Amino acid sequence: VKEAGRNNFHFYTGEMNAHALRWMSLEVHLRHAVERNELRLYFQPQVSLADGRVTGVEALLRWQSAELGMIPPGDFIPLAEDSGLILDIGTWVIEEACRQMKAWHAKGLPAMTVAVNVSARQFATGTVPAVVSKALRDNGVAPRWLEVELTESVMMHDSEHTQMQLNELSAMGVSISLDDFGTGYSSLGYLSRFRLDKLKIDQTFVKNITTDPRSAAIARATTALAHGLNLVVVAEGVETEGQLAFLRDMGCDKIQGYLFSRPLPVDELSVLLLEQRML
Ligand code: C2E
Ligand code: CA
Ligand code: CA
Ligand code: CA
Repeated sequence: VKEAGRNNFHFYTGEMNAHALRWMSLEVHLRHAVERNELRLYFQPQVSLADGRVTGVEALLRWQSAELGMIPPGDFIPLAEDSGLILDIGTWVIEEACRQMKAWHAKGLPAMTVAVNVSARQFATGTVPAVVSKALRDNGVAPRWLEVELTESVMMHDSEHTQMQLNELSAMGVSISLDDFGTGYSSLGYLSRFRLDKLKIDQTFVKNITTDPRSAAIARATTALAHGLNLVVVAEGVETEGQLAFLRDMGCDKIQGYLFSRPLPVDELSVLLLEQRML
């Protein structure tokens, strides 16, 4: 029994080492990614259903690694959070978004909001308002053009500390958007306690909205709830005309999804915005 136990143990650590090694080497690569300029922001338009125009974009992180190729955020953000690298990366995202806004303004593109995703780990440092205010100031960008997206996990985690930072961001004039609504540890208490401006209906509900009455009911109730609280409602992951019609009918304010556009590298987004301006 002892023998078997030992073998099992060896087998187990062998597996763990392989996993840890892969994780570690990815971490080493990720550590260099910022310095080597391998991170990029892609931008996905949000379209207002009232007039069909792009009113804002969400910045989504991409890692174009020289050695490993293109790595989607779902594959490295958990690692970045575990290793603490998310702090440098998160700061870079906020700064880069503001630099980009400055460049768009300089080109005379119509002003629009840029939403950035901020992780719970980043809020835990307590430095988000300072990082945001410096990035805005350095680039001469008015706070109302920046939007911070956070998930329910952020509010769950040390909620008093988070609440202070959100209040500070709000007071500055930055908008706060609640991402992935309904997928996490939703508590209606959060909606009353935190100053929010926008609520994003998660794509899992949108995906099934035309086929599953329960997803439809959740989306409908969420929209009513959000509107009752004066929040703008955005549906994400909109892929079909059917979903769009349903969401429009339901009173959703904005949509984001492949139906209108995938997340685009900055050059392609500029082309899209210039075309819109000429319409
Ligand atoms: P998220 O914030 O919920 O972002 C929405 C995700 O849905 C994005 O995936 C986007 O490309 C994808 N998406 C948009 N429209 C559609 C659609 O019509 N259909 C489908 N199937 N997917 C659609 P992406 O870019 O791979 O990002 C995944 C997640 O990684 C994000 O989910 C967010 O949680 C995280 N993330 C991305 N960028 C950042 C960042 O800068 N900082 C942090 N902390 N997290 C980030
Ligand atoms: Ca998001
Ligand atoms: Ca989301
Ligand atoms: Ca998500």
